[in-house]
Amino acid sequence: MYISTENYRQICEEVRRWNAQLVAVSKTKPVEAIQELYALGHRDFGENYVQEASEKQVRLPQDIRWHFIGHLQTNKVKYIAPFVHLVHGIDSLRLLKEVNKQGQKLNRTIPVLLQVHIAREETKFGFDQKELEELLCNEEELQQLENIQINGLMGMASFLDDTALVRQEFKNLKAIFDRCRQQSIAHADFQILSMGMSGDYHIALEEGSTMVRIGSLLFGNR
Ligand SMILES: *Cc1c(COP(=O)(O)O)cnc(C)c1O
Repeated sequence: MYISTENYRQICEEVRRWNAQLVAVSKTKPVEAIQELYALGHRDFGENYVQEASEKQVRLPQDIRWHFIGHLQTNKVKYIAPFVHLVHGIDSLRLLKEVNKQGQKLNRTIPVLLQVHIAREETKFGFDQKELEELLCNEEELQQLENIQINGLMGMASFLDDTALVRQEFKNLKAIFDRCRQQSIAHADFQILSMGMSGDYHIALEEGSTMVRIGSLLFGNR
């Protein structure tokens, strides 16, 4: 047994109460762990590494919705493009263009989220607010990206025990999200705000998250 059914049900119920969705982050965990959650009816799984995601995808049921939540390198987009359900971590125009290019080759539209840097830590990936605005204002460029759909934003709060800070970071991201929703942007439909992990998802839900990404709380520590 990799997961506790009761624990899973509790998290599901809480997430549902907020009208949000749960992505079970299965990175580094074996396919058997995923199968356990699958048997309980869960279909949305999150992975961080291209090779691991690809290997799991061929071994597991085809109706699983694979979320790519890690940092994606441009030269690896082609490996996940055929099956990925949602790419959470778009952090450059270059990467967005590459996803579009691979979508075009496959004749599919690939849903993506733009990652926004909201944390204190320097190391986290993502657009800062100014870069995001620049991208979204670049109408000419976005018009041409017919094989992607920008479905929302993703962000990670600081890995700190400072709940006031974490809450403020989520508030900031929600405010950016609300501004994006009000704009009319080519190939964009801002519906998903992906924020909240094992340690901070309660706060994220309170601050307007529509999708939480939970790993260790479901599968145990990595
Ligand atoms: C690993 C990871 C998660 C899940 O983290 P937990 O703390 O185990 O819930 C969520 N989001 C991203 C981007 C991750 O890399």
